[in-house]
Amino acid sequence: MSEPRRHHPTDPIEGAILASPEISDGRTLLLNRLIVMIVCTAAVVAGCVQEPSSGQQPLADTSFDETRLLDHVRVLASDEFEGRGLASAGEEKTIDYIVSRFIEYGLQPGFGDSYVQDVPLIRTQTRPGAKLVVRTRVEQTSLGYGSEVVFWTRRAEEAIELAGSELVFAGYGVVAPEYGWDDYAGLDARGKTVVVLINDPGLATQDPALFNGRNMTYYGRWTYKFEEAARQGASAALIIHQTEPAAYGWEVVSNTWTRPQYDLDRGDGNVSRLAVEGWITRAAAAMVLQAAGKDLDSLSEQAAQKGFRPIPLGVDVDVTLNNAVDKMVSRNVGAVIPGATRPDESILLSAHWDHLGIDPGLEGDRIYNGAKDNATGVAALLELARVAAGRERPLARSLFFASFTAEESQLLGSLYFAENSPLPLATMVGVLNIDIMNVWGPTRDVQVKGHGSSQLENYLADAARSQDRRLVADPFAEKGYYYRSDHFSIARFGVPGLLAGSGTDYTEHGNIWGRERDTDYVSNRYHKPSDEIDPAWDLSGAMLDMDLYLQVALRLAGGNGFPQWADGNQFKAVRDQTAASRMHQGSPDLSGQRDAQVLP
Ligand SMILES: [Zn+2]
Repeated sequence: MSEPRRHHPTDPIEGAILASPEISDGRTLLLNRLIVMIVCTAAVVAGCVQEPSSGQQPLADTSFDETRLLDHVRVLASDEFEGRGLASAGEEKTIDYIVSRFIEYGLQPGFGDSYVQDVPLIRTQTRPGAKLVVRTRVEQTSLGYGSEVVFWTRRAEEAIELAGSELVFAGYGVVAPEYGWDDYAGLDARGKTVVVLINDPGLATQDPALFNGRNMTYYGRWTYKFEEAARQGASAALIIHQTEPAAYGWEVVSNTWTRPQYDLDRGDGNVSRLAVEGWITRAAAAMVLQAAGKDLDSLSEQAAQKGFRPIPLGVDVDVTLNNAVDKMVSRNVGAVIPGATRPDESILLSAHWDHLGIDPGLEGDRIYNGAKDNATGVAALLELARVAAGRERPLARSLFFASFTAEESQLLGSLYFAENSPLPLATMVGVLNIDIMNVWGPTRDVQVKGHGSSQLENYLADAARSQDRRLVADPFAEKGYYYRSDHFSIARFGVPGLLAGSGTDYTEHGNIWGRERDTDYVSNRYHKPSDEIDPAWDLSGAMLDMDLYLQVALRLAGGNGFPQWADGNQFKAVRDQTAASRMHQGSPDLSGQRDAQVLP
């Protein structure tokens, strides 16, 4: 990672110092351990943040309340809320709870005269007996459903039949004009089944100039592979599973995709989706390719080279799939503090309320309480809403607080919100998303997912400086976490999005201890019924992170800058299409241009 340039421009509008982002990797951070950190001043912990421009006046008239924060988590993560599954009794209670708090704190309804937005969903479930057969000229093989291949459809169709669909190896399945890359070049994919690699060529080649090196781009995500194959007109796509580039093992794949799948109900039977989406194990893919006279390793090498062209395999695929289809309606919750002078310019703060509900098939504890994921995030959102609404001085811009549904189902609630936004996205300044808060006390570092994405990080770095904390990059950027929470749904429409929170360098216990905590959570609690409140929790670190988001939100809402995507970022082109909307009284967005000098 390159060292950021030192540059401290003065924001012309706010008269504040906009600091350079202080990003370092773990090693630099360890070397810098000698720096004395004064993190936990009582004022900061109590949430009485200092106005960066004046250094004196508090930004907020009210303080965060740690007891209230934990109380929210207790309610939302209680067994009574049933794991906050979609369209369940638990959803009913969750929505009621969040709406009641927004009303209590004096926020306005976010969707016209309502605090909720209906999100129409379809749920599909592959029925037993699904078959995928691969045929060469001399033999045919039925792949084991669950053990060698999993597949499903998100179309609202009871039965899917594919017969004689030609199999084509399409590399990484990527069309990326900014990298001069087209894995579908010269291929008419209509009616065909493409087989593609997971992740992107940057990980394979470790070339930082290619797809951001090890840091995953959206082109590496499985969701993208299916979307692109559908755009190309293919009937089916199979992703070759590999544990490291996928970031999870085959058991996760087979567990996840043999369960019900959700999609937005687009009212047309969702025919724009592929007829069949699926994953195939590396071993099964190698076997199929061998039957076609090809070698997976050498094809993978070719696929990582610029100029790769798709390779027809002379193999046909037949699929028989019976599908259970249900329709349902879930809900996003939203409330707003309208801006006094420029209400159409908004800052979105978000935290998904949904989790995995109840699994009747489990032994013992069957409730996925989702205490950290994401009862803590919703609790933080509610506290942010209360403190922001308690301010006496009005803000120029609107603060919108959204709690999305179906985040755990491919970010569908936030996608629906973005497609049906109550606020113009062209003048939405940024999204500050919260997904899983720190429960183990203050840290010296603030970890940024997708580091280097946008100038929102400059504001965050400035806020972190006020707490004597520093920004660090996500150490697992190849896993693509930036694409795995709700800000990403909005980012796809061009709005810069931030996902940040405590790192692992705990003020009291240090980095090794912090990493052990992370590992324990990921291995033993994440997406398991054991994600519950622990009496040993210490939410003071979460309070600091909330304070950072509050500072960033209030700075943005009080100013008129529009932070931009970093040059080369894949969402920049979409944002640039609406650049003309981001002008004030005919004057160009000066602070945004100043910001551009900061983030390399
Ligand atoms: Zn989450």
